[in-house]
Amino acid sequence: MKKIVFATHNPNKFEEIKAIVPKSIKLLSLDDILCHEEIAETAETIEGNAKIKADYVYYKYKFPCFADDTGLEVEALEGEPGVKSARYAGSDKSSEANIDKLLFNLKEQDHREAQFKTVIHFMDKKINKRFTGICKGKIIEERRGNGGFGYDPIFVPEGYKETFAELPAATKNKISHRGLAIKKLIEFLRA
Ligand code: IMP
Repeated sequence: MKKIVFATHNPNKFEEIKAIVPKSIKLLSLDDILCHEEIAETAETIEGNAKIKADYVYYKYKFPCFADDTGLEVEALEGEPGVKSARYAGSDKSSEANIDKLLFNLKEQDHREAQFKTVIHFMDKKINKRFTGICKGKIIEERRGNGGFGYDPIFVPEGYKETFAELPAATKNKISHRGLAIKKLIEFLRA
């Protein structure tokens, strides 16, 4: 069975992707390979941060590996918070504070279109590939729902009335930025 590391410390994301990965692949977490350190995300783009994390694990731990980086790009804020999504309201990466700041910055703004973008960077011997998934939607004015994580309670994906935090996890996986990017990765791995 092929072992591949998903370079994330986020258990929500690990479970989300584990549910989609084919049974022929054993998905390992950073804990499984005893990588407990925080990998600094110092790039200025989502693409750059995904590559930094995949490079780090591949070269240090010698496993085929992929890493993702996600940003929420809000049109009226010229793409912000974007690459800064995790630390939008400060270095403690509080989702509650990030949501509060975003809602404040969009106060009395009618133009609320936004998109989540996930970039997955995959590394194995001579392979260096990038897969992108985008989910368009809009930012609502108040939080709704208890599921998901991050900005989910204020993001309504296109074609739905519910927020990501109200939709079942399986529905989110099917239409989400990360779900779309991982599907591209899996098609590539199967080929
Ligand atoms: P990261 O690249 O996964 O660290 O995500 C950057 C930021 O976007 C963090 O604040 C996450 O909470 C948020 N985020 C990532 N994926 C999602 C998602 O699927 N829904 C809501 N927020 C997300």
